[in-house]
Amino acid sequence: MSSLIFGPITSRRFGQSLGIDLSPDTKQCNFDCLYCELKGAKTVIKSQKAPLVEEIVDALKEALQKHEHIDVITLTANGEPTLYPYLDTLVDEIIKIKKEHKLLILSNGATIHNPHIQKTLSKFDIVKLSLDCVSSHCFKRLDRPHKSICIEDIIEGMKEFRAHFEGDLVIEILVVAGLNDTEEEFKALHKILCEIQPNRIDVGTIDRPPAYDVQGVSIERLVELANLLENLDVCIAYKKNYIPQKRHFTHVEILDLLKRRPQSFEDIQLCFDEESLIFLKDLVDKKVLHVKNIAGVNFYKVR
Ligand code: SF4
Repeated sequence: MSSLIFGPITSRRFGQSLGIDLSPDTKQCNFDCLYCELKGAKTVIKSQKAPLVEEIVDALKEALQKHEHIDVITLTANGEPTLYPYLDTLVDEIIKIKKEHKLLILSNGATIHNPHIQKTLSKFDIVKLSLDCVSSHCFKRLDRPHKSICIEDIIEGMKEFRAHFEGDLVIEILVVAGLNDTEEEFKALHKILCEIQPNRIDVGTIDRPPAYDVQGVSIERLVELANLLENLDVCIAYKKNYIPQKRHFTHVEILDLLKRRPQSFEDIQLCFDEESLIFLKDLVDKKVLHVKNIAGVNFYKVR
């Protein structure tokens, strides 16, 4: 069997993370996304091969002894981690040993309408779910779900889950050129996201070789689309080698910008010139702005 535990990995959004792979030997997923980093594969709705809870817990205990300074334990998979058949038991066992470390799951959201999955996910500190588009046409073309899965159930499930989940809910949107990169799709996403009320939305694009022949969008387009998600806490994933154009903002322009959409520290550092950074600090000192940490990412927000 391949390794169950990987890391620690430093993530800009969650800090130092120790990962647990719930499908270490083969891809098992209920989606076959065009942008997947793994090779395309037939969708499944049940895990065919799964490591035992004891094996995972033993490997985790060992890793935690070796790596004390981690922030989160992340449940993930070569595929969809909620297909793991013993997820609820595993989560209970991890909670017994995790101490102050936060528990995070990265899921494609396909099973979130299932009450049993909602009950299990409500035990996590952070739940990150994908929602690339809300129109059925786009969803089927981009995420290529198993035939039993529909986007309407996923959206309803996300709303139900949010209503009782007290941890941080993060929604991830991955933008693919020619598919979900339209104003129309993002306006529809904005409406649904306002109803779901996640704590944070991560918007990114393809930056590793995809399973199928698709391409990402430019960072400039990503920013334009993120700006359509007004009044939501959006974190944009910049490519490591991205060199942005620094812009100048007055006090008033900074306030206007942050009223439309709170900006992450990373957004600000990349896009503000020296003087704008001084104005920003000024507004924080005068308590017009404040800093809020949302699931590991700091945002500037208007009070
Ligand atoms: S949900 Fe994740 S693992 Fe599954 S096909 Fe999509 S990108 Fe790949």
